[in-house]
Amino acid sequence: MTARILDGNKIRDEIMHELGGQIHELKAAGITPGLAAVLVGENPASQIYVRNKVKTCQSLGLYSEKIEWPADTTTERLLELVHELNARDEIDGILVQLPLPPQVDSKAVLEAIDPLKDVDGFHPVSVGNLVQGRPGLVPCTPAGIIEILRRSGIEMKGARAVVIGRSDIVGKPVAMLLLHNHATVTICHSRTRDLPAVAREGDILVAAMGRAAFVTADFIKPGATVIDVGINRLATEEEVRRIYHHPEGPLAKLREKGSVLVGDVQPEDAREKAGAFTPVPGGVGPLTIAMLMSNTVKAAKLRRGSRVAAKA
Ligand code: NDP
Repeated sequence: MTARILDGNKIRDEIMHELGGQIHELKAAGITPGLAAVLVGENPASQIYVRNKVKTCQSLGLYSEKIEWPADTTTERLLELVHELNARDEIDGILVQLPLPPQVDSKAVLEAIDPLKDVDGFHPVSVGNLVQGRPGLVPCTPAGIIEILRRSGIEMKGARAVVIGRSDIVGKPVAMLLLHNHATVTICHSRTRDLPAVAREGDILVAAMGRAAFVTADFIKPGATVIDVGINRLATEEEVRRIYHHPEGPLAKLREKGSVLVGDVQPEDAREKAGAFTPVPGGVGPLTIAMLMSNTVKAAKLRRGSRVAAKA
């Protein structure tokens, strides 16, 4: 059996297209949703993420602001900035790119964000809204996973779902969303006993652990839907040979590009044993920025909703 590939790029494009229509309507009502992205320090990966987020805003016609501050910024200055952004009407979403430099109290900064503008969905109020199934802003990667399942026609209702990973950013929120979609959910972590046996119960298996190709054939129920959240970079031939059964293709890529991306799932095993799976790259990853855009539009509607209705 060869599994169906769940194409994240295609689903991202669908979502972006729909968002374009919603943004058009908001603009007609005099509202341009706006995102402020705050970047502190010079982490190269963070710089790329923020650049891509701002570029995507621009391509959709959203207002965006990139605020770049030096690595020695204090918690107090960042708190002032967040309070200023909270007060500005044209800013609907505030994104503070993590990680922040070590001297900054990240928790205090994230908690200072107005929950109505919390487009990353990390604020305790957003978490509470998610748990209680109230309207609110949901973390982007978990929301993207649900979009992939929903738009690919994968039945969540009544399904056994197993999530490997219990982080606040991916594991816990995706488990909660699966539960709200009426799956029967098991959350696993590093202390779970006999992980492969638990994972094999999943009609839907979500791997979000940050361990390259850890999930192998014996974790996968035949025909299951496997969602691979992991992003791991392999940089040596030895690593590539250790992970792939047929390493020729990945080795060629390594020689050409200097590294190879692999998820938390062994991709050849997923292709062989799953019913459907998300590739890495091109699966869950593309959805994360799309859901950030979606959250920015949602935040504009939630906060300025009555004005939209009044003007429409
Ligand atoms: P964290 O490191 O915060 O959490 C990892 C989780 O996996 C922990 O709960 C940990 O358990 C569990 N875990 C680790 N090792 C094992 C093991 N051997 N057996 C069972 N469980 C284990 O990671 P994140 O949730 O932030 O990210 C997970 C992955 O997803 C990473 O590869 C990250 O790069 C990727 N990611 C991808 C995104 C995307 O857009 N595609 C967005 C965000 C993340 P315990 O709690 O017991 O330590």
